[in-house]
Amino acid sequence: MKEHTADALLRASPLPALEARILLMHVLGWRRTELITRGDQALDAARVDAYRALEARRVQGEPIAQLVGAREFYGLDFDVTPAVLIPRPETELLVETALSALEGIARPRVLDLGTGSGAIAVALASARPDARVWAVDRSTAALEVAARNAGKLLDARRPGGPLAFVAGSWYDTLDPALRFDAIVSNPPYIASGDPHLEQGDLRFEPRGALTDEADGLSALRVIIAGAPGRLTPGGTLWMEHGYDQAAAVRALLETAGFADVRSECDLAGIDRISGGRLPLAASQQAGR
Ligand code: GLN
Repeated sequence: MKEHTADALLRASPLPALEARILLMHVLGWRRTELITRGDQALDAARVDAYRALEARRVQGEPIAQLVGAREFYGLDFDVTPAVLIPRPETELLVETALSALEGIARPRVLDLGTGSGAIAVALASARPDARVWAVDRSTAALEVAARNAGKLLDARRPGGPLAFVAGSWYDTLDPALRFDAIVSNPPYIASGDPHLEQGDLRFEPRGALTDEADGLSALRVIIAGAPGRLTPGGTLWMEHGYDQAAAVRALLETAGFADVRSECDLAGIDRISGGRLPLAASQQAGR
């Protein structure tokens, strides 16, 4: 019987070369350089079968991140399952913008609404070890993935303490006495009829993480409406949204009383996140 090698499997693969290499490195536990230096080594039949099974699933459309169970975000290696949205590179903009807003605030309190894999909450907690971070999701399966990621990626002795995971819908189950210096969210913002829901990776991701089953703005409305009652004076709210929602989100923020309302564009030049700052209470402003 013919012996299989990494070189031969890659040559015969129907997948784009990069995808085939990622799946093969995952199955073999090899680094990129080993694919080259060990490319002509005979592989066990079990490994070859495992690779072929993943390759076939990828041909059927399953996302690479789900097949390998991981995706890098903000330089950290997050576990990913079908219970969570796959972290997207454009969401790193939300992390960076929230970090700028928190500069100069010691031991800030941060709330991540709809945390999913925990990508945003864990990235913020990693970059700001002093931050106290709450992460909410209505999906307990998602919270399990987020808690695993926090356990794996954060220092157990970080000064801000462990992340607080809260099961519930947006603000509903949070302690009403809590006030946050920043609220961040990447909520479901795709409108129910959007054809993208039936394309690519999105077909395999949790529908509830992608669409509000309405006009795409309903979760953003709830998050904005509830934020003034949950932010400290001067606190900031930043949300990711769809490519055509920036003006609508800015209008909602202004109506809710936010100041310094603006959007930031992602690497593709699309206004991808919007946010604002809660004005300082009138009494505090008067003293300045
Ligand atoms: N950015 C995702 C996409 O369009 C959607 C994520 C979301 O709804 N929050 O692929």
